[in-house]
This record gives sequence, structure tokens and C-alpha cells, in this order.
Amino acid sequence: MSERVIPLVDQRLLSLPATLPARPIAAEGLLRDSLGRPLHDLRISVTDRCNFRCNYCMPKEVFNKDYAYLPHGDLLNFEEITRLAQVFVAHGVRKIRLTGGEPLLRKNLEILVAQLANIPTPDGSPLDLTLTTNGSLLARKAKALKEAGLNRVTVSLDSLDDAVFRAMNDVDFPVADVLDGIAAAQAAGLGVDADGRLTGLKVNMVVKRRTNVDQIVPMARHFRGTGITLRFIEYMDVGATNGWCMDDVLPSAEVIERLQQVFPLLPLQATAAGETAQRWGYANAAGELDPALGEVGVISSVTQAFCRDCNRARLSTEGKLYLCLFATQGYDLRGLMRQAHTSDADIASAIGHIWQGRDDRYSELRASLPAEAAPAARRVEMSYIGG
Ligand code: SAM
Ligand code: SF4
Ligand code: SF4
Repeated sequence: MSERVIPLVDQRLLSLPATLPARPIAAEGLLRDSLGRPLHDLRISVTDRCNFRCNYCMPKEVFNKDYAYLPHGDLLNFEEITRLAQVFVAHGVRKIRLTGGEPLLRKNLEILVAQLANIPTPDGSPLDLTLTTNGSLLARKAKALKEAGLNRVTVSLDSLDDAVFRAMNDVDFPVADVLDGIAAAQAAGLGVDADGRLTGLKVNMVVKRRTNVDQIVPMARHFRGTGITLRFIEYMDVGATNGWCMDDVLPSAEVIERLQQVFPLLPLQATAAGETAQRWGYANAAGELDPALGEVGVISSVTQAFCRDCNRARLSTEGKLYLCLFATQGYDLRGLMRQAHTSDADIASAIGHIWQGRDDRYSELRASLPAEAAPAARRVEMSYIGG
């Protein structure tokens, strides 16, 4: 067992300035980082707070009543988020995911959703607007979110067994209420594509050894044939507080092996560049793919890094741009944006400059990195920059 590392320095207080390059960089959708990766996907954290205390993300020992969440004035307001999102879209972003913390705790989130849904893309292609949630407030909010323009949603659910689920969220939250949230999302039409097919509703399950491995098959059985895509995520060494150790990681290959013993599966092609999940389709008794049974995905962030296609940027709750989930510092876009004379072209230039310098590929280097390169105690938390 590894010991839990409680950070002595609050990483959120450190930041890098978002400076303007000597020659302006226009937002033309052609941006590439130093490894040739485009900027396609933006994850926006709208709050650092959460009503769950999942032990792999916000353990109670750290996120207790003494924990200093960001003060309200530090948060980007909806107009600021939308302004930045517009610049990111001009630079090539086509997918925006709202996250947190628990994004549905942010008051009036549907107003932000409506603002983001109205951002035009330069080529007229639709913006894919989605949200990741623990599902606890989804039954109440699904309809309003859909009406505001949210396309789809991903719900995190680690177990169908109520006792296991209550222990994992560590606030005794019942699994039935999350299942109600998923049903409400489905009823509201979240994840339904233009042809009326349910393709965009996803459930993410973090798999942790000694905790919920027994839930892999029941979860697959529950969602198989529903149109909802279940994805198994390897437990990651993100942040500094969850006491991560490799012994708790169940490699995705073993997840697939366990599933194959019960349901025949066939590998599917990736649908988009930079896709994080490896997809598997359920087969019928004849061993052929059966689209009616749907698919599962595995996200192998630890055992099979996918950095070389990583086209994701993360915007923290108070406006810092992070280039990697395992980054130790972010670039202060809020500081730049709140200066009186900053234009959108200036913001585009600064973002372009930052992205062009990006060389992050932590997961690929994980095994070979010296400890001081990204020591656990210096990493920002996932609840702060968004998953
Ligand atoms: N609260 C929302 C939720 O749980 O869906 C959104 C934020 S949460 C940080 C985003 C995703 O990160 C969730 O699917 C969660 O399970 C995942 N996550 C958090 N900590 C993780 C870890 N250590 N390893 C793998 N996934 C993790
Ligand atoms: Fe909250 Fe999501 Fe983290 Fe769980 S994973 S503590 S629900 S932010
Ligand atoms: Fe992207 Fe960083 Fe994850 Fe690699 S480790 S896939 S660069 S976020």
C-alpha cells in the first residue's frame, strides 16, 4: 500500500503568465503543438466543488470542511467562459465538455450551455457540446440542459451494487438516484443523434482493484443493448491526494478478458482521431457484430498511453489553461482577459503561442520520468482542472 500524499503547496496558487508573442498568431484553425497535435477538444471546469467524495478523486481526509475552495470572485463568469470558448473554437476546437468538480452544482448552468451552444464555428460544422456529471442532479436538470442546447452527457457510475456505490462516493449516495438521472437524460433526448438513434449517452466506470472489479460484468449486462455506451477507465495517478498505487490498477486488457468470458466482443475501429477509448462491439451467437447490442469502451490511460493523439486542453474554474491532466501549472488566461485593453485577437495570440510550445506527454513517459519531473505532491487535482 502506498501512503497518501498530502500536498504542502497549493498548486492552484502558482501559475504561468499568458504572454503575447512578438508576432501575433491569428486563430485560423491551423494550430499545431510542438509534436504536431491539433487543438480540438476543450474541457471547461465550471466549479471545483462536488457533493461526492469519491475516494479516488476527492478523499474526505483532504476535501473536508477546512478545505479552501476557490472564492466566488475568482471563478470565471459565464461571459468570460464564453469569450474564451469563442477564441478556442476559432483556433479549431470542435468539442467542448463541461466538467468540474460536479458541473451541475454551478448555479444556472443551462444559461452557460445556451451561450456556448450559440457559438458559430468558422466552417459551419456543429460544435459538440457535452458534460460529465456524477448524475446526482441529472433527474432534475436533464430537460433544461437539453432545451438549452446540450447535445449529450457522460455519467460517472462505478457500481450497480448500492453498498459498493455508497462506499465509493463516500457520502452514502444511493445508486438508484443516479440511474434515475440516466433515465431522465435518455427521456430528455440527450445523446440522440439527428437520425433519432441514441449514440451519445455514455457511462464511465473507474475500475479499482479491491473495490469494484466485481461490478464489471453486472455493469456490462445492465447497459448492453440499451444504446448507452459503458466505458471502463483505468484508475489514474492524477492529483496528489488519492494515494494512488499501481496495485490498484486493473489493466483494460483484463477488463476485456473478464467481459469476453461472458459476452463475445469484437474490436471496432476508432471513429475519430484522438479518441481516448478503444471500442469493442458485442457479438451475437453467430460471432458477428450485433449493433443492437451496442458497444463498450476501455480507456487505458495507464497501461496504453494515447498522448501522441492528445488534442485536449483544459480550462480551470478560474481561467488557467492546462495542457495536460498531469500538469503542475496552468497559464493565467483570466489575468490576461481581465486587463482593460486585451482584445480577442490578443487572447487568440496568447493561446496560439502556448499551444505551439506544448510538448506534454506524461502518460507515455510515466514509467521513465524522474520523480522530480512531475512529483505527485505538485500535481493539480482532477476536481480542479476537470476530468
Ligand atoms: N463530477 C463529475 C463526474 O464525476 O463525472 C465530473 C468531474 S470528474 C473529475 C470526471 C471524471 O474523472 C469522472 O468520470 C471520474 O470518475 C474520473 N476520475 C476522477 N478521478 C479519477 C482517477 N483517479 N482515475 C480515473 N478517473 C478518475
Ligand atoms: Fe466528485 Fe466527480 Fe470527483 Fe467523484 S469523480 S469526487 S463525483 S468530481
Ligand atoms: Fe494528454 Fe497529458 Fe493525458 Fe498524455 S497524459 S493523453 S498529454 S492529458
